[in-house]
Amino acid sequence: MSDNPLRKIPKVDTILDSPAFKRLETRFPEFVLKEVLREYLDSLRFEIKSGGKTVVPGIDGIVEEISRRTQVLVEPGLKRVINATGVIIHTNLGRSVLAKEAVDAIMKVATGYSNLEYDLKKGTRGSRYDHCTAVLKRLTPAGDTLVVNNNAGAVFLVLNTLAEGKEVIISRGELIEIGGSFRVPDVMKKSGAVLREVGTTNRTYIEDFERAIGDNTGLIMKAHTSNYRIRGFTHEASSEEMVELGRKYGIPTYFDTGSGFFHAYEGLGHTGEPIISEELKTGFDVISFSGDKLLGAPQAGIILGKEECVDAIKHNPITRALRPDKFTLAGLEATLLLCLDAASAAQKIPTIAMISEPEENLHKRARRLASLLKRRCPGADISVIETEAEVGGGSFPDMVIASAGLALVPSGMTVDTFEKRLRDRPVPVIARIEKERLIFDMRTVLKHDETDLVETVVSVYTDAP
Ligand SMILES: *Cc1c(COP(=O)(O)O)cnc(C)c1O
Repeated sequence: MSDNPLRKIPKVDTILDSPAFKRLETRFPEFVLKEVLREYLDSLRFEIKSGGKTVVPGIDGIVEEISRRTQVLVEPGLKRVINATGVIIHTNLGRSVLAKEAVDAIMKVATGYSNLEYDLKKGTRGSRYDHCTAVLKRLTPAGDTLVVNNNAGAVFLVLNTLAEGKEVIISRGELIEIGGSFRVPDVMKKSGAVLREVGTTNRTYIEDFERAIGDNTGLIMKAHTSNYRIRGFTHEASSEEMVELGRKYGIPTYFDTGSGFFHAYEGLGHTGEPIISEELKTGFDVISFSGDKLLGAPQAGIILGKEECVDAIKHNPITRALRPDKFTLAGLEATLLLCLDAASAAQKIPTIAMISEPEENLHKRARRLASLLKRRCPGADISVIETEAEVGGGSFPDMVIASAGLALVPSGMTVDTFEKRLRDRPVPVIARIEKERLIFDMRTVLKHDETDLVETVVSVYTDAP
């Protein structure tokens, strides 16, 4: 008799006929189960042949493994996570957490029909681009507005519409790269506009712009240095100077503010972030920015400006390829409506609420979670610490926000293993490692995340390595 473990693997038919497998068939489609079973048995045989495995699980063990693997397959890959990184506008973690009002508005248009492109007064076809215009005009002195898929799309459309085949003058210090391969020079090339950089990395004067103006100048552009600051021996042309220069030569001016909000929120201090309505008042012909950065709305690119410029962009055939869907428009409009009242916006829009939550609150929340965790994770070293959170999303690049967090040193497992396992749970927790400790920053942990945060940490801790 051979004790070749390969022979101990149950026959496929025997597994398929087992009561345990039959039970699985009531939960998952049969063809998926068979596929998973075949792959599993292949990998088992491979492991045995390469000498890594000698013990073969029985039918129940196999079926349990098939159940676990199939469960993973039918779960959505895009899922909720808990952000304990302390980076509020975290592009990798989905940027904005929407206000309840925005979610309600999305629910309404998602679960029924809407007047997305229907004019209710006239009973005829309407435009999806009109929905956010009324509120944007109340928030800013814009002549007209257009919402597109994201700000990268907005930048492309502005350049392509206003400067295809022409030169765009921009300061060398503003040839920005935003994460995810958005680079101003590359976008400009694809838009058909010709880059005309002026000045030096650290110093650019309005005279540099003026000297570059010629017959083929199409646009004067300013780009907000969202994710960095140039300090020290520096100079930049002011918004006022650029607008004045554009007027003098009859050349349109464009400011890609990247992020930006409608109010100088009290408590955020002097931020250096552009305030949209003020920049428009200065006289830029066009401004564009993201919906899901400081505004705290769904992903969108918002274009504001003079009627004739925005109208030209609306008629660009590529605009259709970048149009937003009804969920974006519903969520954006609801968020913009909240912005009409700065005080309520600061409370109801999670991004702003997180930036401005008082440090004492965060300490209080951290202390509560620490005492819960200490009770349930005996042996772990858990303490409340002061941390530094940041806004992220290419805004306030060098501002840190005093915050509070938990520091955890596990026992029986390395910090790296613990961190990895936190990411592998049904509700993953994304934390950071600092000085051999796991840090959970409370500024980005939402109140309704707290229970799941505790349960996930406890489950990792109590699970034997
Ligand atoms: C973020 C940013 C963009 C790109 O905006 P998305 O909404 O991410 O497409 C463009 N320009 C600036 C200055 C930015 O900060």
